[in-house]
Amino acid sequence: MKLVFDHIDFTVVGHLQGLLEAAGIRSEIRNLNASSAAGAVPVAQVYPELWILENRDEARAKALIQAYRDEAAAAPVGPDWTCPSCGEKVDGVFSSCWNCGTAIPAALDPGPA
Ligand SMILES: [Zn+2]
Repeated sequence: MKLVFDHIDFTVVGHLQGLLEAAGIRSEIRNLNASSAAGAVPVAQVYPELWILENRDEARAKALIQAYRDEAAAAPVGPDWTCPSCGEKVDGVFSSCWNCGTAIPAALDPGPA
């Protein structure tokens, strides 16, 4: 097991897990509910974490994550948007709803730079 990524926003961690799984890298997310414990005062700042199960996948996983971050940094980031299908609030870096997969409405998509 190796920790390869953590982020305050679990939707980003979940997105990266999807990328790793698409590449055949087995992974799991820890602390998924760390930020939403009902009524609890957080003892420490704990972010959702993405762990890979096989240490030999580490280099590939980190390359995929780096590529994602480079792409995210280079892409125009639109404002957060609300999914027309399920009503979920979606971060501007995503071009489809993390919850139901609906694509961003064309009017909101900042498109290629
Ligand atoms: Zn949706």
